[in-house]
Amino acid sequence: MGFATKAIHTGQEPDPTTGAVTVPIYQTSTYAQDALGRHKGYEYARTQNPTRSALEKNLAALEGGVAAHCFASGLAAIDTTLKLLKSGDHVIVSDNTYGGTYRLFEKVLRNFGLDFSYVDTTESINVENALRDNTRMVFVETPTNPIMAIADLESIGKLTNSLGLRLVVDNTFMSPYFLRPIEFGADIVVHSTTKYLNGHSDSIGGVVITKNSEDADRIGFLQNAVGAIISPFDSFLINRGVKTLAVRMRQHDENGRKVAGFLADHPKVQKVYYPGLPQHPQHERAEKLMTGFGGMIAFETGSLAAARAVLDNVTLCALAESLGGVESLISHPASMTHASVPAEERARLGITDGLVRISVGIEDVEDIIADLDAALQKA
Ligand SMILES: *Cc1c(COP(=O)(O)O)cnc(C)c1O
Repeated sequence: MGFATKAIHTGQEPDPTTGAVTVPIYQTSTYAQDALGRHKGYEYARTQNPTRSALEKNLAALEGGVAAHCFASGLAAIDTTLKLLKSGDHVIVSDNTYGGTYRLFEKVLRNFGLDFSYVDTTESINVENALRDNTRMVFVETPTNPIMAIADLESIGKLTNSLGLRLVVDNTFMSPYFLRPIEFGADIVVHSTTKYLNGHSDSIGGVVITKNSEDADRIGFLQNAVGAIISPFDSFLINRGVKTLAVRMRQHDENGRKVAGFLADHPKVQKVYYPGLPQHPQHERAEKLMTGFGGMIAFETGSLAAARAVLDNVTLCALAESLGGVESLISHPASMTHASVPAEERARLGITDGLVRISVGIEDVEDIIADLDAALQKA
């Protein structure tokens, strides 16, 4: 079965009681049992919910995992994944990972005895050099946010598999339509479903997809034991969003390539970060790992004043955090998504005050380009 067919059909069987072709929102907290000790597989809705199960079956199939478990946010999914570890364990993390992930690791999980090292995961040697006796997990985000660096997933996957370490990949930026990390050695894939999977900027959610059944059982146990579950209504919205994932991603990619080309040729733009451009340092690797480059672009305007002029003068692109929706969104990483990353660390990662990030939507690309062009004239 092809990707688009799976996205529409897997886990989405007609409702057994009525034949409804769309999985209903089972908005219930509990389920009546037939007799003492006899029930239909559903006891309490933190533990099981049919709307959520439909989504989980679907997302497991799209990533090629044995199971998926959905959570109230991407960060809840990542937090639950880290609960596979115990106090004293060490994790190696991509060095310009999502700001909220960095905050969770540094400001919360460190207090519980986990230790983190941040390395440039575009080279697997950096992961190898950071290994310690107590390293138990490698957490890679690719492409990184907002610089769009592509991790060397293949080499890191071989390394973690040979050492028996868990490789976790945050695949939010590419979605399983363009990248399936399990094919390159990942044990666990996480997403903020808030972004491309839901795709319509109207829900917050997260998912953990597991390659092996031991991890799946433990994540399922934690989903129920910790309780950071997604609601039936959000499950419904994401079920609906995923049905158009293939067509949306194709259009994000087509528009992304055109906007990146426009920016690369623009005199007011000093640098463009987009893996689809031949000058991107990991362009060849991106072509090998991914079947498209998506709609995320960052570009350097040279100064805070120039970035501000662009951000204040766009009219179609909304100035907003987040990404992956049908509408184009534009943001300032240094003061928005990455504000919680210390200034020296931001400078080292290239997250300058002049950097602007755009999540290219699926509007007519001519309109997106005209909007950026007009705003750049003011810079
Ligand atoms: C948004 C995002 C997250 C966090 O997800 P929430 O749904 O906002 O909790 C994690 N990783 C990446 C790459 C993201 O873009």
